[in-house]
Amino acid sequence: MELYEKSAFELSEMLKAKECSAAEITESVLGRIGKTEASVEAYVTVCEESAREQAKKVDEMIAEGKELHPLAGIPIGIKDNISTKGILTTCSSKMLYNYVPPFNATVMNKVNSAEMVVTGKLNMDEFAMGSSTETSYFKKTKNPHDLTRIPGGSSGGSAAAVASGEAIVALGSDTGGSIRQPSAYCGVVGLKPTYGSVSRFGLVAFASSLDQIGPIGRTVKDVAMVQSLICGHDKMDATSKDIAYPDYAANLKNDVKGLKIGIPDEYFGEGIDAEVKDAVMETVKLLEKNGAEVRKISLPSTAYALNSYYILSSAEASSNLARFDGVRYGYRTENYDSLIDMYEKTRSEGFGDEVKRRIMLGTFVLSSGFYDAYYKKAKLMQKKISAEFSEAFADVDVIATPTVPSGAFKIGENMGDPLKMYATDICTVTINIAGLPAISVPCGKTANGMPIGMQLIGGHFREQTLLDAANAYESIVGGFGNIPKIV
Ligand code: GLN
Repeated sequence: MELYEKSAFELSEMLKAKECSAAEITESVLGRIGKTEASVEAYVTVCEESAREQAKKVDEMIAEGKELHPLAGIPIGIKDNISTKGILTTCSSKMLYNYVPPFNATVMNKVNSAEMVVTGKLNMDEFAMGSSTETSYFKKTKNPHDLTRIPGGSSGGSAAAVASGEAIVALGSDTGGSIRQPSAYCGVVGLKPTYGSVSRFGLVAFASSLDQIGPIGRTVKDVAMVQSLICGHDKMDATSKDIAYPDYAANLKNDVKGLKIGIPDEYFGEGIDAEVKDAVMETVKLLEKNGAEVRKISLPSTAYALNSYYILSSAEASSNLARFDGVRYGYRTENYDSLIDMYEKTRSEGFGDEVKRRIMLGTFVLSSGFYDAYYKKAKLMQKKISAEFSEAFADVDVIATPTVPSGAFKIGENMGDPLKMYATDICTVTINIAGLPAISVPCGKTANGMPIGMQLIGGHFREQTLLDAANAYESIVGGFGNIPKIV
């Protein structure tokens, strides 16, 4: 087994036991990138040189007998909407094609202080708007399980890099499913943390009230390790919650005895492929056999979730993206004859179609004649959806649903039909609307061999419960399988 195939936890143990060096781990991952990146296209920027330097530094610290963080020397890829000081941060947009942040996101300060090895910046849908990573200005990332299919989105680069061994773990961001959905399509584990538990300082905003950074890994334990590192209160983010956060990885259990699992009918209805429903229900049955208690619940407002999500997220996006005007950051049009002309041309040329669609939709739903009819109603729906979840969590510990309605679709299949593309988010958007944590774990394959994901949803700040349940499932099935053969 090559080093890039191992989990962060295994590599961390090997480093401790001096069975390998940080340099060897980094070379193994960089070698894998060299071999498969031409096919997978997960990265916008690979940071070869700085990764090697960082690995060398870790090896020196080990030689000096310094106490190291368990994630020291572990290669991590970063979604390209997380600000990295001195490293290009494009949001996969022409608008930021040359933007190098002068500061680090809070999560990057944590990653750096743990002495992790940053392998590079990962491709995504432009400004995190999309479900397939096809709206990236730069390239189309491929699903490592079938290179003719999408990896999901918007954190498609993050999920594909982890699934292919081009990174051991990765950071993504999730506004309506962008960590969980690509994780499901690529057969890896992705956690969307509770809103407020991971600092958003330095995350380029899409919809600030829904955005959350979170980890992607090949094992639940790896995801727990990264989440333990990145969570915590941050005075630089006004929505960051000041509570005591547990060390999820150290506390990780693998027992589902007595765990109450709720099954909401609304997530198993029309529009969800039969093979996906079956795979999730089989998994739930397996957990029941191992001691979990399963009960039916109802979340009737799910029917309004997609409409509410696209209204709320587009409204916030239209405001957040106003800052890209050719003055402050990145791209500026070449020929213009007035300030207004410069703004207009810069934004027309710098943004792609999907981003423009969201800005127009958001501006429309916030306009004086339509605010009450759309934005206000969506805000009311948000309250109702949240209240239904709170009610459900009075009876159950976790809720199990499919992560996405089907396996990964073909590249190009949904690009001409935005509503079809939006419909793939049906199972994930409610969680952001309610600010809850949720994890996606692999739970089988479709008839054509594509991974299926199960989503476990928890109450606010109940990440430990989710990770424990997911970890129990992983040990029952004996792991989530090997890295697919790519070339
Ligand atoms: N697919 C959803 C959208 O396009 C979610 C994106 C996300 O979570 N960043 O809005």
